[in-house]
Amino acid sequence: MTDIRVCTHEGPGAAPVIRTVPRPKIGPKAALIRIGACGVCGTDQHILKGHWPKPLPWPFTLGHELAGVIVEIGDELKTDFMGKPIGVGSKLMLPPLMPCGHCDWCLHYPETANKCLTPVYYGRYLGFDKPPHLWGGWAEMVYVDFDDLPGTKIYKLPDEMSLRLGTLSEPLTSCIRAFERAQRVNGFPWNATVVIQGTGPIGILAVAAALEMGAGRVISVGAPESPRLELARRFGAEATVNIEEIIAPEDRIKAVRDIVGGYGADLVMDCSGHPTAGPEGIEFLRDGGTYVEMGQFTDAGSIQTNWHRICTKDLNVLGSWAFTANDLPKGVDMLWQARDRYPWLDMQTLYDFTEEGVAQAVQDAMAMKTVKSTIIPNPDLIEA
Ligand SMILES: [Zn+2]
Repeated sequence: MTDIRVCTHEGPGAAPVIRTVPRPKIGPKAALIRIGACGVCGTDQHILKGHWPKPLPWPFTLGHELAGVIVEIGDELKTDFMGKPIGVGSKLMLPPLMPCGHCDWCLHYPETANKCLTPVYYGRYLGFDKPPHLWGGWAEMVYVDFDDLPGTKIYKLPDEMSLRLGTLSEPLTSCIRAFERAQRVNGFPWNATVVIQGTGPIGILAVAAALEMGAGRVISVGAPESPRLELARRFGAEATVNIEEIIAPEDRIKAVRDIVGGYGADLVMDCSGHPTAGPEGIEFLRDGGTYVEMGQFTDAGSIQTNWHRICTKDLNVLGSWAFTANDLPKGVDMLWQARDRYPWLDMQTLYDFTEEGVAQAVQDAMAMKTVKSTIIPNPDLIEA
């Protein structure tokens, strides 16, 4: 084979066009991978709808859930990212947008290197200074070259694993990471009751990930019944709530809470990509529960409504209601230890313990005339 067929799009809304790219000469640390299967991701759909927030090298090749077989490999490329030996015939998966490992962000925040400033896309070939490149899985082959892009990462699949199964490793990993983030804040205890919003591919894989990672019960909220809710139940969701049949958010909240019972779910994860899923989903939770937003991340939306910025920015958004009994000595200790470091008492405006005094204290507080209106019932207890 001298030419490689790759599918390209001219831009959002364009029809797919199969083009050919010359087969590259393989460098010493490069490999050519024949693709067995590649999924269509929600991100691909967003890109084709024009939602991607940055310029893209059109006409490029989409597809980042790919699994393939090495057909040609350079002498110096011996292992995958984890050090597993690879060679011609090895099965691989390749993730999209791999962290470069050396930008300012990667150096300072390695735990969120998924937000790398200069992520690596496999498939660039030095011979091609213009698209189409040999990147993207909607193609016969992709190309990796570690001399050109040292941040490239490839992962060996088990020899016996089908490439169809292998393509699911990338989206499933997103779900595992999301649940691990919940575990890290003690938000995903063993036997937890978990509600998954969304029954697309991520929502379905999230059912499996939740169960594998210790959930006791999983409930899926999504649509349509066929094929999605039906498959969610086959994956292990004990019940499903159909958002096409139950339209009003308050009715859906009641339906989910009736199934969950008790005080509500321990953990809710949004995989729906819908901008109003968040405010609805937090009502599925018990007080003290955990919400993970992993919906889509490309639609900029508006500042007021775009709950998805939580996902895009990979944020920890925490609620904090008052305190628990063990916290209070900390308040006492901090005031005492720092008694001379801050003008604590300048916060206070003092009022007499009379009807007029109390009324004035409240009135001034409401009018924001004071910082902390403070009533003094027994002035003899207050030192000057
Ligand atoms: Zn980086």
